[in-house]
Amino acid sequence: PLVLGIETSCDETGIGIVRGRTLLSNTIASSMDEHARYGGVVPEVAARAHLEALQPSIEAALAESGVALADLDAVAVTSGPGLAGALMVGVGAAKALAVSLEKPLYAVNHLVGHIAADILDDDAPPLEYPTVALLVSGGHTSLLLVRDLTTDVELLGETMDDAAGEAFDKVARLLGLPYPGGPEIDRAAASGDPKAIAFPRGLSRASDMAKHRYDFSFSGLKTAVARWVEQRQAAGEDVPVADVAAGFREAVVDVLVTKALAACRDHGVPRLLLGGGVIANRRLRDVALERAAAEGVTVRIPPLSLCTDNGAMIAALASELIMSGRPPSTLGFGADSTLPVTEIQVAGSA
Ligand code: ATP
Ligand code: MG
Ligand code: FE
Repeated sequence: PLVLGIETSCDETGIGIVRGRTLLSNTIASSMDEHARYGGVVPEVAARAHLEALQPSIEAALAESGVALADLDAVAVTSGPGLAGALMVGVGAAKALAVSLEKPLYAVNHLVGHIAADILDDDAPPLEYPTVALLVSGGHTSLLLVRDLTTDVELLGETMDDAAGEAFDKVARLLGLPYPGGPEIDRAAASGDPKAIAFPRGLSRASDMAKHRYDFSFSGLKTAVARWVEQRQAAGEDVPVADVAAGFREAVVDVLVTKALAACRDHGVPRLLLGGGVIANRRLRDVALERAAAEGVTVRIPPLSLCTDNGAMIAALASELIMSGRPPSTLGFGADSTLPVTEIQVAGSA
């Protein structure tokens, strides 16, 4: 099926067009620059930016793929989870498009969309089930067991406080680095010694692992970094930014990879799928690949343009739903900022 997907859950206005499992276009407009001076995404600013970007983005995606609106078989949209106002803009646009074109509409889950991004990767062999998926972004840190993309996604664990990307952004800020902090910390860490400062690994002690084996916590780590920096400054000493960045990054990466591989081992699943914007982190990819290989686990990492928020992954998920015979959503659905990952498609009420 030929599907146009709309993604507006955070700060990216993503329009993607896919045919079956083939990517035809993937247009991404980000309002990140507008949030930079606030050090994080401002919901109202994001919603307004989506409103402005949607029309030109849809036109650009159609032009890029050489597809006409009339040719589409379906429209897909992120119903949640995400920022309520931002989601609402995309949902409204998708409904308007579907109604005016008299096309079926699929309301889908953003997190499951991140997994669906993987099937658009031409260079990779088809996705095998079950697979463990680790999604790490500015808003999410989730460990999932995917038995079937369209019917069975189980939440194994998630962050209990900050998301991994959020932790990167906050630590960057306290080190005086600009937003978004992830790439900045990555760059600073390159010349640092990851072993110079030992930062805590959240929820990783034996007692924590018994109760929160697949859950994450990064706020303690952020506080530990803040204290360490403050003490240095109070003593009138320079802050070794590269070492702090490297130590912090190592702590985040260690916890993410340790827990993801524990999930693989526990469930006897030798496959790990990575997704979300934090996957841009070189160290995370390297450590994941190295430690997974040592345990006989195959790692899949979609191209980065499909790891960060985008519309193609939303179209891809709808395309899978259509191919497995699922009926479209009714117009009764809305934006659901806390949509659980188990709700792959939102049916809508009659
Ligand atoms: P959502 O949570 O809905 O997916 P988001 O827009 O916050 O939304 P992404 O766009 O997928 O998430 O990712 C952005 C996050 O990734 C930011 O927090 C950013 O700091 C982080 N990030 C980007 N590059 C890197 C990197 N090299 N290392 C670590 N973090 C990174
Ligand atoms: Mg983003
Ligand atoms: Fe996302």
